[in-house]
Amino acid sequence: MPLNPDFPWLRAWNGPLTADLVQRPGDFGLGRVPERLQPDATTSMVCGFCATGCGLTVHLREGEAVNLSADPRYPVNLGMACPKGWEALAPVSAPDRATAPLLRNRATGALEPVTWVRAMHEFVGRMKGVQERHGAESVAFLSTGQITTEEMTLLGALFRSGMGGRHCDSNTRQCMATAHVAYKQSIGFDAPPYTYADFEESDCLVFVGSNPCIAHPIMWQRVLRNPHKPAIIVLDPRRTETAMAATLHVPIAPKSDLALLYALANALLARGAVDRTYIDAHTDGFAEFERFVAEFTPERACADAGIPAETFASLVEAVANAKRASFWWTMGVNQGHESTRTAQALINLALMTGSFGRPGTGANSITGQCNAMGSRLFAHATGLPCGREFQNPAHRADVASVLGWPEERIPSTPGWAYDQIIDGIESGAIRGLWIIATNTAHSWIHQTRFRELAKKLEFLVVQDLYADTDTAKLADLILPAAGWGEKDGTLINSERRIGLVKRVRRPPGEALSDFAIFRLVANAWGCGDLFRAWRTPEEVFRLMQRLSAGRPCDFSGIEGYRHLDQSGGIQWPYTAADAAKAGPGPLPVEWRERRLFADGRFHTPTGKARFLFDAPRPPVEMPDADFPLVLLTGRGSSAQWHTNTRTGRSAVLRQMYPADCYVEVNPEDVARLGLLDGRPARLETRRGALEVNVVSTPTVPSGRVFVPMHYDGVNRLTAESFDPHSRQPSYKHCAARLVPRKS
Ligand code: SF4
Repeated sequence: MPLNPDFPWLRAWNGPLTADLVQRPGDFGLGRVPERLQPDATTSMVCGFCATGCGLTVHLREGEAVNLSADPRYPVNLGMACPKGWEALAPVSAPDRATAPLLRNRATGALEPVTWVRAMHEFVGRMKGVQERHGAESVAFLSTGQITTEEMTLLGALFRSGMGGRHCDSNTRQCMATAHVAYKQSIGFDAPPYTYADFEESDCLVFVGSNPCIAHPIMWQRVLRNPHKPAIIVLDPRRTETAMAATLHVPIAPKSDLALLYALANALLARGAVDRTYIDAHTDGFAEFERFVAEFTPERACADAGIPAETFASLVEAVANAKRASFWWTMGVNQGHESTRTAQALINLALMTGSFGRPGTGANSITGQCNAMGSRLFAHATGLPCGREFQNPAHRADVASVLGWPEERIPSTPGWAYDQIIDGIESGAIRGLWIIATNTAHSWIHQTRFRELAKKLEFLVVQDLYADTDTAKLADLILPAAGWGEKDGTLINSERRIGLVKRVRRPPGEALSDFAIFRLVANAWGCGDLFRAWRTPEEVFRLMQRLSAGRPCDFSGIEGYRHLDQSGGIQWPYTAADAAKAGPGPLPVEWRERRLFADGRFHTPTGKARFLFDAPRPPVEMPDADFPLVLLTGRGSSAQWHTNTRTGRSAVLRQMYPADCYVEVNPEDVARLGLLDGRPARLETRRGALEVNVVSTPTVPSGRVFVPMHYDGVNRLTAESFDPHSRQPSYKHCAARLVPRKS
């Protein structure tokens, strides 16, 4: 292939790369089906959609996956699966997968198939060109919580230590950054303390901004198995499916949750329903917290939240009487303008009631994506692997020693968060962007701004299963990636369980695993030598184990992939000392469900958890005369996943949700605004408009409307606003209006 004379360094890598591809295609996963699987058999692996992390049985014919069923032996789902799990082969079997690299022809503007060699030539040549013209930090990547942990580890190390880049983040920023920061600040490490058995052992479950019936249906099934007749309390502006099934729905005004949780703490104090012994032994800062919450009276809380006094009293009563209270939160908390303090308000409640480390207790964040937890530990976005800090010389030395790299290879400065990278495109600081397995042009808050800014980039690379996502359509280069079931690796679920995914299908055409693509980039970039010991996912897993050793997430005791396979996944921590106690081979039953902090020792310097709090603030955009409604967004159905790039490719799943975007509106508002149930309307905010069908339903209170996030254009409406600690976008609150439209 002729070399671009603009990039003379290409001579240094073009030859070896070609030789690699020609001589050792197997190393890059070029269409090989794993040899260890019998032609007609079953195997098991974890689902690649949500962070529940269900085990699925894969049915094979002639060595290829042909069907799936729920694995009855897996300790997470106990033989259950939601529609996405049953249909998980459909998105990878879709006929419209990306099968070859596509390069935009600069003359015609069309995307045209090219070889991997040419794709790497362009990738390296143009990214290095951007760096030469604008500095090493002018290229960035945006990644995902959907690829394997081994892939995340390789990508972060490649980009920061091999390519000289600094700014990188992942879509975990959009879902779990808040939980990460909240735990780290409060208990010293991003360590969700629970195990799913806690759903069954709690006598009072408080769900805040969480609708597990729809968003985490298998977790909800675990709640339904609870034999203790628990109080189930839901704090949510909408009467969601979970709220309908709860023993108490607290229908709070949008974004009044933080003040209400402070008021709950105050009311528990007034009743003496706190565990002073636990507080004194295991926490810091309680006296200040006690003084702070004193002004959050029940009267004020009820007025701000718009709830009756009796409802608040019932909430206090249920928590005060609980012996095993657990506090659960999801995106209704994480995606708020003061989300970190709201998550910490729940942590504070668990601490003050001594609800940590015992069965059925905990302040428990429910994770979104299948591997958001892997991203939080290994993505290099907010820190070095396993919660280490870039700025800490001892941490850098640790990482360098495990990887066998000189210390100067280990990055010493944090990079920008997702929103800062987008701002960087606007300012011209970011000129080259590599987007991996995420759909920024749909999912980013105020998507129109991103779509406009993407035009400013000198080079946009999108690595995905499909070439027709909203983001891929903007790309200069598309790298076709293998999907779930087409590659090996591990995912970490909400309860810290490391589960295995396997290659049980041949990727279509020339699609490669993300792992293989990162290795190609490393070789092409000229830093392949750094990754000589990173040849396979399992080799990287071994490195990850060594990186985890001595950290709170230590899983160095795991014997390898086979051990995970035999044991129904293994929760971290699982240290070498644990392994010595548990013995070799499949994990004994008593080791399969483990929670943290039974000894009350946390990962802060004092060993005590911290009470953290701040005065509540109003959202950035309140309803007014022009835009009198509050727009809420969230998951629509259990058959839909995020931007529908995968679930939209299943004919079965498509039958389970409306094809067109809809808005849920209270019947009073339907009548008052002259709307008609089932008829079109125009939903407008200050940023844009969306055609929607009206669904008249009392589940949404008057003055608020709800739109599922999965439909294209929803984030045309949302307002850019971020939590100051986690920099997570606030998708759950902006001002809107509805205008009837003649169909
Ligand atoms: Fe997959 Fe989540 Fe459904 Fe389980 S609940 S089958 S992990 S999508």
